[in-house]
Amino acid sequence: MAESNTINALLVAAQREAPAIDPLDAQILLAWVLVRSRAWLYAHARDPVDGTAAARFLALWRRRCEGEPYAYLVGEREFYGRSFRVTPAVLVPRADTECLLEAALDCWPAEASGTVVDAGTGSGALAVSFALERPQSKIIAIDLSAAALAVAQTNARNLGARVDFVRGSWFDAFAEASIDLLISNPPYLSSDDPHLTEGGLAFEPLEALVAGPAGLEDIEHLSREARRVLRPASWLLFEHGSSQGAAVREILINNGFIKIETRFDLEGRERISMAQKRALE
Ligand code: GLN
Repeated sequence: MAESNTINALLVAAQREAPAIDPLDAQILLAWVLVRSRAWLYAHARDPVDGTAAARFLALWRRRCEGEPYAYLVGEREFYGRSFRVTPAVLVPRADTECLLEAALDCWPAEASGTVVDAGTGSGALAVSFALERPQSKIIAIDLSAAALAVAQTNARNLGARVDFVRGSWFDAFAEASIDLLISNPPYLSSDDPHLTEGGLAFEPLEALVAGPAGLEDIEHLSREARRVLRPASWLLFEHGSSQGAAVREILINNGFIKIETRFDLEGRERISMAQKRALE
């Protein structure tokens, strides 16, 4: 076996191609391809790597160098302690959305039964996690994208979660006052957000990221529709951009919601807002 195909030589070659990328990334990727731990790589630095594995690693590494998110390369991402399958048809689940899940679990007692809807489910990370944490509830996950729903369904099956999936636009399929809790990580970027063309976001589905010229269009729609489909005294919780807190609270006030509260993400930025529909309108 040529010296160029040892573990160490592959890592050196990868690093030479992309000096700006953290060397840890190459180690994590090679460990994943070889189904080993990073510690194992250190102990076997001079071991040969077979040609197929080496070629697979280098092909994935080149995609990483182009800026593609790691989760798409390996096809999975951890969310709330469980591994979710992800493809470029869905957003990569983020820690911010774990904060949304925690806020939603806080307002839904373990023994509560009732209908919970996740609007714009994507990978299903929110809906599936909620279903597993609150098995008494009936979870319905909606998405407009058939490709996203296929990913979410796979996740529900793999993780053993009971979730009903509906393809559609927001709450078109729901009757008035038929939902007990609404959760959503809607698109909330504006169409000219400079981040869209930088780094990993450029690889993620635009329809899951961009709401329109203002970035608040889907949140406005969601809040208006929530007022119709939520049962009296039920809660709405959603994620939004870190600079949208004040605008979001105003939208919720204008739609007649009460007990409006904004929670912070792990970096201390306004990220989640929650509000209750009045008991009597
Ligand atoms: N939090 C994502 C980002 O800014 C956006 C997710 C979304 O639009 N729902 O990277």
